[in-house]
Amino acid sequence: MGERPQRYRLYGISIAVYVVAAFWAFYSLWSPLGTQGWQGLLVFMGLLTYFQLRSITFADRFNYSLSMVVLFPAIYIYGVLPGMGLAVLGGLIDGISLRKKWDRALFNVAQLSLSAAAAGLAFRHFGGTAGQLDLPGSLLPMVMGVVGYFVVNIGSVTFLLSLRVGESWWSVLNQLSFDGLVNYAIVGYMGILCALFTGSWQLWGAIAFGGMLVGITELLQMGLRVNIEQNRRAEAEEAMLVDVMTGTRNFRYLNQWIMEDAGKGKQEETLLFLDIDDFKAFNDRYGHARGDDALRAVANAIGRAIRDDQDTLVRYGGEEFVVILPNLDQADGSAVAERIREHLAAIPEAALEKPLTVSIGLASRPGDSDSRPDLLRKADLAMYQAKKMGKDCCCVWQSSADGHGHLLARDSSAVS
Ligand code: GH3
Ligand code: MG
Ligand code: MG
Repeated sequence: MGERPQRYRLYGISIAVYVVAAFWAFYSLWSPLGTQGWQGLLVFMGLLTYFQLRSITFADRFNYSLSMVVLFPAIYIYGVLPGMGLAVLGGLIDGISLRKKWDRALFNVAQLSLSAAAAGLAFRHFGGTAGQLDLPGSLLPMVMGVVGYFVVNIGSVTFLLSLRVGESWWSVLNQLSFDGLVNYAIVGYMGILCALFTGSWQLWGAIAFGGMLVGITELLQMGLRVNIEQNRRAEAEEAMLVDVMTGTRNFRYLNQWIMEDAGKGKQEETLLFLDIDDFKAFNDRYGHARGDDALRAVANAIGRAIRDDQDTLVRYGGEEFVVILPNLDQADGSAVAERIREHLAAIPEAALEKPLTVSIGLASRPGDSDSRPDLLRKADLAMYQAKKMGKDCCCVWQSSADGHGHLLARDSSAVS
């Protein structure tokens, strides 16, 4: 015990310290509005609300908005206190709209307003005067304001996170991504530009720049929508190629595979055609539900016997499967067929009074054929030959020496 409660106490105390510090900052930095009219501030409040409500959620977890952009012009044009007020507004909307827990929302409001205070103090410290911006004189104070904001923001957020997850502050700080830092830089840059616009053209400057920020937000939303749609379509297309019962590829996939034949030339490829022996009798004896379980067990066993990354198991239909083995010749393919039969001999259905077995036909290219449809046909014929030869075995298609006639050779017999 001991450790966790202490960590939580520290967490609570930290939030309280932040809130008190934020109040103190509000109190001590109290100052009248800058020389500009207050209408621009209203525009910033509207923009901030809009950005927060229209924040963009990437990959279901990373929440992004441009709301920080308007904090900087608020501070540089109207002063520290309006900037802090805006930060509080942003924190509140964020907490309410994302339904954050009250402790996190409270901390967020406190740390945002303290970050804004840091920006204002840094701006002032480096010679900036609210509402009187000029170039290049105001550049350094504005940049230092941005730096001050992000140092306090990153510092306090990672500090609280380290208390919550129980890691050292330094290790949490090290998890900051480069993208995150680039994002801070972009937001700071846009904030400075917005301040210059508003400083030059007052209300109209704020509106003009705000319009552009709205445009960027909508563009991001659009991109996100397209992305989500694309992912959904890709998922749906993927689902169409899967056999629902066994989780293997389905006949539609096999058809696509056959269509892709063109241009494959003399690439080595072996096909296995598998058919469960006397499966109708299995169903009649044990029932169809048990038959379905057996189909899944067969699919799993075959899946374990082939290479995950290259080979493909397809449920051709009913109790028939096709295994595609790229870059394997006849001898390697036969070895895989044997391995499949060994794996199948180990499933529970193979230990029943009437054991479940399969017949396998094998054909390879370029030796037996130079087209995939033909290869499939020959593997199928080889499988029928295996049935004829007493089932529970593998037959290999063999082209004769002159390349025309053929004979089917039995490659294996019962495992047991
Ligand atoms: P053979 O050794 O000649 O292949 O005999 P068989 O009984 O396996 O062949 P047949 O083609 O006569 O019957 C196939 C059986 O497979 C018929 C059907 O009841 C069963 N079957 C096909 N699809 C499914 C399925 O999805 N679930 C179950 N439980 N049985 C299926
Ligand atoms: Mg069949
Ligand atoms: Mg069968």
